[in-house]
Amino acid sequence: MKYKRVLIKLSGEALAGDQGFGIDGEMLSTISKEIGQLHATGTEIAIVVGGGNIHRGVAGATAGMDRSTSDYMGMMATVINCLALQDTLERQGVYTRVQSAIDMQEVAEPYIRRKAMRHLEKKRVVIFAAGTGSPYFTTDTTAALRANEINAEVIMKATKVDGIYDKDPMKHNDAVKFDTLNYIDVLNRGIKVMDSTAISLCMDNDMDIVVFNMFETGNIKKVVEGNAVGTLVTKPQK
Ligand code: UDP
Repeated sequence: MKYKRVLIKLSGEALAGDQGFGIDGEMLSTISKEIGQLHATGTEIAIVVGGGNIHRGVAGATAGMDRSTSDYMGMMATVINCLALQDTLERQGVYTRVQSAIDMQEVAEPYIRRKAMRHLEKKRVVIFAAGTGSPYFTTDTTAALRANEINAEVIMKATKVDGIYDKDPMKHNDAVKFDTLNYIDVLNRGIKVMDSTAISLCMDNDMDIVVFNMFETGNIKKVVEGNAVGTLVTKPQK
């Protein structure tokens, strides 16, 4: 295995499946099976889950809401997704803990870094809920932050396409996939794979990101085994 400890970033949209909104049980079960197979290899797994399938702060703000209030709603949405993922993983025999950046002790542990790391050592999957706990951030930035905090070796950014292309592969037949990209190229080209705050945080701390298609069976394991899957975003190689 190339990596011992990984952080998987799952967007809320991934949980919605084709319905585009809410949580699709079948999709959740597919994702959980993939995570379960990776877990069986002994890899330490942390997960940050988004909330875009339920609420996005910017969308509320555009409709006239107070931005921070709308962002808090988004963070609440991530908690719903995290509990759904926890439930599905545990039904498959994978022990998990949800840690929330906003206190809600009846449903989740508070985020405590050292406790999270202890859970990982005990091979429990740790699911980080409620983003960073602060408005104006995203769960991509949460992924960058938590990955650094828990000393993960890589962020595995799950997407529907198999990496980063020079143009949208859904619209252009001649789109070319990058095997590797530097952080600064992602920023300069305005590639919307993660927001710029998240990419910058990874760049400043040399946190590798693998962008890959999580919906292709076995892919998640291949990434951790070190196979060339997806696109690696990393520092310039000498
Ligand atoms: N959010 C926030 N602070 C954070 C993380 C998330 O305010 O640290 C809010 C923000 O409104 C965001 C929403 O939660 O739009 C859902 O997260 P995100 O959009 O990152 O979810 P994803 O796109 O991954 O589904």
